[in-house]
Amino acid sequence: MTFERRDQRSEEAQRYRPWYKLAAWRKARVVQLQRQPLCERHLERGEIVAATVVNHRTPHRGDWSLFIDPSNHESTCKSCHDGPIQSAEVRGFSKAVDVDGWPIDPAHPVNR
Ligand SMILES: [Zn+2]
Repeated sequence: MTFERRDQRSEEAQRYRPWYKLAAWRKARVVQLQRQPLCERHLERGEIVAATVVNHRTPHRGDWSLFIDPSNHESTCKSCHDGPIQSAEVRGFSKAVDVDGWPIDPAHPVNR
């Protein structure tokens, strides 16, 4: 069961992996990092960290319009992208909290 899901996921990922090499994406990535050079996830907590990754706010899962839409792009640092963001995509919501310790994500169960 678990293996089937993983295979399906990686097959799908292989289909859109070449998109990250396209000039259209490279340009969109540079534009996003110039527009917002700081990690937006760290900024939410008032911390200044340089962004190196452009994350898709809504996971594109192979949807070209979500993939390339600038309003779906978000600057993050690598640790935010590889940690909280990827686990949030699996879970369906983020566990990030504001200064009062309240979850930021509207999709978090306490905010629904
Ligand atoms: Zn960060």
